[in-house]
Amino acid sequence: MFAITHYLWHMIDFRSDTVTRPTPGMLKAMHEAPLGDDVFGEDPTINHLEQFAAGLFGMEAGIFCPSGTMTNQIAIKCHTQPGDEVICDHLSHIYQYEGGGIAFNSGASVRLLQGDRGRITATQVLGAINPDDIHKPVTTLVSLENTANRAGGSCYDFDEIRSIRKVCDQHQLKLHLDGARLFNALVAKNETCKQYGEVFDTISICLSKGLGAPVGSLLLGPASFIKKARRFRKVFGGGMRQAGMLAAAGLYALEHHVQRLQEDHHHTQLLADTLRQKDFVGEILPVETNIVIFEVKGRFTAPDLVTILKRSNILALAISPTQIRLVVHLDITPAMIETTIQTIKAL
Ligand SMILES: *Cc1c(COP(=O)(O)O)cnc(C)c1O
Repeated sequence: MFAITHYLWHMIDFRSDTVTRPTPGMLKAMHEAPLGDDVFGEDPTINHLEQFAAGLFGMEAGIFCPSGTMTNQIAIKCHTQPGDEVICDHLSHIYQYEGGGIAFNSGASVRLLQGDRGRITATQVLGAINPDDIHKPVTTLVSLENTANRAGGSCYDFDEIRSIRKVCDQHQLKLHLDGARLFNALVAKNETCKQYGEVFDTISICLSKGLGAPVGSLLLGPASFIKKARRFRKVFGGGMRQAGMLAAAGLYALEHHVQRLQEDHHHTQLLADTLRQKDFVGEILPVETNIVIFEVKGRFTAPDLVTILKRSNILALAISPTQIRLVVHLDITPAMIETTIQTIKAL
């Protein structure tokens, strides 16, 4: 092994849950993974991951991709025709943070809804479906995000998802889930993968967020859909070769890093409790999972506070001139939380 030397190594990094590095156990699993050429369908580790993840959700098939942007965009591409319309919340990652991919890749338009912290309702969806009128784009897809990233890691109420499914069934719409942080929601709300597999047509999950793998996302759905997705993954340039070592990290993460998300959620609550006592902290969005978004007021601006925290080796992200986001993850230890709490208290 070689020594890991990196200036960020000494930092307490709350900027995102994507900053984690593979654990020793994960590295060992990656090192030992049997490999093959996945474009030929011959990487045994990728095949195993795809089948394992599909099985978790009770779905027929899965496809391993380099990113969550790719799994979402492939799903939208497969579910729509150019000129169709996709319904989603206005804060959705698929709309805000995927480079205009819905228009670029699929030629589809978007109907944005003003949800409650990233969560839309069945009534809102019903009201946004276009009538059968040649002037209107054809509504074909509804996409939900759970947890909702830009809304501070909020979780859907599963009954609302069921109601949205009913509306989709009544209007022949497909239902996709951007589940980049679905496992955070499952752990927080004590829900199961199978529940989600039953109500969504397709689900995207990220292995490289809270689960701590270095790379990779999975798109899950019916076998015929995933066959079509495999064609678009190639078109989008996402066909990888001996990527089983990445899939091995994902398998390890699904086996070892799901239940521990509870610890991240607990740590996030401790940070929020500390922030709540400070005069320079305004509104704190409700903390449901591993994200805390808070308003900075009075003595500091958000960028000021980021700079001040950095002097104590604490990295945070100013997501607006008045808001900071902290994200807790696998590489944040209890000692780091304690250091951060003491640092904030002293400000
Ligand atoms: C991170 C994320 C994605 C996928 O992002 P990639 O960086 O492309 O893997 C998708 N949706 C949400 C909500 C995310 O937070």
